[in-house]
Amino acid sequence: MADIIQLLPDAIANQIAAGEVIQRPASVVKELLENAVDAGSTKIQLIIKDAGKGLIQVIDNGCGMSETDARMSFERHATSKIRSATDLFAIRTMGFRGEALASIAAVAQVEMKTRQQSKEMGVRLQIEGSKVLKQYPCQASPGTSFSVKNLFYNIPARRNFLKSNPVELKHILDEFQRVALSNPDIHFTVHRDKEELYHLIPANLRQRIVGLFGTSSNKKLIPVEEETDIVRIRGYVGKPEFAKKSRGSQFFFVNDRFIKNGYLHHAVMSAYEELISKEQYPLYIIFIDIDPSKIDINVHPTKQEINFDDQRLVYNYLKVAVRHALGQHNAMPSLDFEQESTFNLPVIKQQETPTYRPSAASGTNTGSGKSGSANFPSLNQREKSNLQNWEKLYENLRSPEEEQGVSKNEPSALTLESSWSNESGDPQEGQTTQKTQKEPYQIHRTYIINQIKSGFILIDQQAAHERILYEQYLEILQEQSGTTQQQLFTKTIELDGPDTEVLLGILEEVNLLGFDIQHFGQQTFVINGVPAELAGKKDELQVVLQLIEQYKFGLDLNLNFRENIARSMARSAAIKRGQSLDKEEMKTLIDKLFACAIPYKSPTGRNCFHTFELEELAQLFEG
Ligand code: ADP
Ligand code: MG
Repeated sequence: MADIIQLLPDAIANQIAAGEVIQRPASVVKELLENAVDAGSTKIQLIIKDAGKGLIQVIDNGCGMSETDARMSFERHATSKIRSATDLFAIRTMGFRGEALASIAAVAQVEMKTRQQSKEMGVRLQIEGSKVLKQYPCQASPGTSFSVKNLFYNIPARRNFLKSNPVELKHILDEFQRVALSNPDIHFTVHRDKEELYHLIPANLRQRIVGLFGTSSNKKLIPVEEETDIVRIRGYVGKPEFAKKSRGSQFFFVNDRFIKNGYLHHAVMSAYEELISKEQYPLYIIFIDIDPSKIDINVHPTKQEINFDDQRLVYNYLKVAVRHALGQHNAMPSLDFEQESTFNLPVIKQQETPTYRPSAASGTNTGSGKSGSANFPSLNQREKSNLQNWEKLYENLRSPEEEQGVSKNEPSALTLESSWSNESGDPQEGQTTQKTQKEPYQIHRTYIINQIKSGFILIDQQAAHERILYEQYLEILQEQSGTTQQQLFTKTIELDGPDTEVLLGILEEVNLLGFDIQHFGQQTFVINGVPAELAGKKDELQVVLQLIEQYKFGLDLNLNFRENIARSMARSAAIKRGQSLDKEEMKTLIDKLFACAIPYKSPTGRNCFHTFELEELAQLFEG
């Protein structure tokens, strides 16, 4: 029998190979943009027609190609970027496999014009289904222009398989964003059918992010910057309060190459633990710079997957870097560049702003004896500095054109009319420093409304108080500084067996918090004293019983022992929904909340507040 094995003709081999690299218009966009970047361009234009199914054109002002190179560039495994297998480990360019142009030319009608900077004439090449139709010298600007028309014109099955235009366009813009983010110093424009979608001038990373995601993104960014012997981690993460319910703006770049990596994603998410709820996703744009010999990027033809020699180490560095950034954000939100000029001038700001001003004075002047404030002892040093920072964050909420990440899902709770009439008609005469402060207002004995510069803030009193107490109790447990108010009459409680075990297990810490409870033998305990701030406010027995309940049922294995106790105690001692609060209590609650290290969330992950921007309000009433 005759031999039957033959080599496939090149055109078919290329088509098969193309299937791996070119799946949809977005893949073409990615490859062409990356080639333009690799060519050292300073300006790159992307033109899309019919969601890339009609035309994808990329025009760059990079190095261009010689006539021979122009022809060679369409051969499979033709690349100028690596010469030997060892080069593979020192890759700094985006491309290196030499497959993209060959693949594109196999499945589309391609026209390329290219001219080297030093030459007077350029060359023009037309290729269709891997066949060179025409090649001739031509006039051209320095650089390269690729037009890719009618993608998959020769593979109908593939073409039919493409999704609707909006979906394909979304994929294209995703690819574009990745390239634009990792090359902020390159000037990019994007045109779709006649419309200009992006015009991004050379900028720093922050400005580039704002250019891509809109002005509102500026105030959401926290810089990350950490360097160790083996990696540098830089970029931005989103402020926790702007986390979204859907994934989306999350980017990792390793040596400026966009990658997807579930493991590293997990590292970032775990850095946000406690700051956002489980269903939320923070924004992040993180660049990991590492010695190329320590990674392997050749895992997948589209090069979005990558292996690190020491994945665990990178994971840990990343987590620490993000944690650190988030911590600094709470400690020093002044990093928000817009605000630098007003920082350190809180007094002047307070006088001139007709808005809610967390009254730093109230904590120091009123003392703890004032009625209603017993739940909220005066601010300590740490809290004061947190609070100052928040005054600045309040300032950040200023520009009404920006806000959009804020949840709008509790409109039913708003009875605006009464709250605003009250607060405009009731200035506190005689208290000069408070003249301009807007009074908070309670609605449904559950929420507190307070005007801020850019709109208003709606606070869930219970969630907020739980947060306040949680941080307070944690600090007490750490510093062992709880103060006890001895009871005139001791009380005894009888518990059942399991509860006795629970209370015995946490008794030492509970007493640190300010209780004075003794085990009286068997299942009996004697309460000699309670934390000073609870004295006379609550039924002691109830508090202790609730504490045990909370501890038993709220136990969170992600928290350590003391955090669990602080949380249980906060939940049992906090003011509840349905409890009416007077103005002083509300003001102190607000001050205390924003003096917290993490004011956004209750210790069980509920939101403590939402802000509502004037802009949003105006939109509600548009015709
Ligand atoms: P790779 O990028 O992996 O090397 P490609 O098939 O994408 O493979 O490109 C092949 C070669 O063509 C590149 O190595 C480069 O030398 C050349 N090339 C492609 N696009 C451009 C461009 N826009 N400007 C200059 N040279 C280019
Ligand atoms: Mg390439």
